[in-house]
Amino acid sequence: MKNDLRFNSRTIHGGQQPDAAYGAVMPPVYLSSTFAQTAPGQHKGYEYSRSGNPTRHALEASLASIENGASGLAFSSGLAAMDAVLKLLGPGDEVLANRDLYGGSYRLFRRVFEPLGIRFRFEDLGKPGEAANCIGPKTRLIWLESPTNPMMNVLDIGAMAELARSRGVLLAVDNTFATPYLQQPLDLGADIVMHSATKYLGGHSDVVAGALVVRDPELAGRLAFLQNASGAVLGPMDSYLVLRGIKTLHVRMQRHCENGRAVAEYLAGHPGVEHVFWPGLPNHPDHEIAKKQMRDFGGMLSFIPKGARYEDAVKLVSALQVFTLAESLGGVESLAGHPASMTHASIPREERLKSGVTDSLIRLSVGIEDADDLLEDLARSLAALSFGRS
Ligand SMILES: *Cc1c(COP(=O)(O)O)cnc(C)c1O
Repeated sequence: MKNDLRFNSRTIHGGQQPDAAYGAVMPPVYLSSTFAQTAPGQHKGYEYSRSGNPTRHALEASLASIENGASGLAFSSGLAAMDAVLKLLGPGDEVLANRDLYGGSYRLFRRVFEPLGIRFRFEDLGKPGEAANCIGPKTRLIWLESPTNPMMNVLDIGAMAELARSRGVLLAVDNTFATPYLQQPLDLGADIVMHSATKYLGGHSDVVAGALVVRDPELAGRLAFLQNASGAVLGPMDSYLVLRGIKTLHVRMQRHCENGRAVAEYLAGHPGVEHVFWPGLPNHPDHEIAKKQMRDFGGMLSFIPKGARYEDAVKLVSALQVFTLAESLGGVESLAGHPASMTHASIPREERLKSGVTDSLIRLSVGIEDADDLLEDLARSLAALSFGRS
């Protein structure tokens, strides 16, 4: 019944029941690694916490509910969740991935799975017509992020899903930036949704976690096998933190979107700013797809200060006081980063430039503080920048 509720109610109730023992409204944190059996193989559904843990299962049911999936799986990090997906493949198989990717995803593909014989092809998948030419007989998986990190390009998930289906290829979507509040990739035809739950799902910058959600029971079974066999499960305490975070996802996201708009519009009108990348701006090249596919435009954006070099961007992000200079995103507090020296430093410069991650690009994760404090902080730092150069 609770899975028939609307999205904003499912963040709170989806897949949840009061605890069977005492009616606890929040699931107890079951720290036990093992569970008593009355006779060999006779138990109450749990044997050993890698294979299954009641607190983790409460989170996994919530994940499935908010992504409109059938099965959720919680991992020890976003990359551990991706690792499980890639283990569906074998040597000789090919993955088609979007060029503009989270740096750690790129590193996992190139440095861990490529040496094991899986081939990766990085292309600009913005045009599904052209993407069709990049699928070969060995392609097994298409991997996308939308909006992309950090360029905020929006890919047409529905069109990519149609293409993937017509060619018998799995489509996986990293939904970390958008969250199910903004878009639900399974409804658009994707096979696998992945999250770094470290970001918006957890929402408070206090836990590292990952998630997969799927609909197909056979695929769910293969991924659950890999989750247990490889063992990168999320611990009970961390599962509890993510579950608690999800309960306020919709209210946080609403404010992230409002503040994202305020910051994007402010920067777009600032004389010291050359360009703002936020899909909610009408001049964004993917604004129309974003409007069609997303409920709102989120709190992630990037911008380039006018005439800035690498050092100027470093100086600007260091001068911010309300925005914290830090990697990561999606928490209640605003963060600023310099992709070229931080999140995307592991990507070779030429590769990085090809996808638009220039030396002076700055990425913001706009939090849920008072928007005026954020605007004043940006105004101060931009003023300090032009001051220093004159
Ligand atoms: C952070 C992030 C990841 C990796 O997740 P971890 O939880 O850090 O392992 C993957 N994709 C995107 C888009 C991310 O932002």
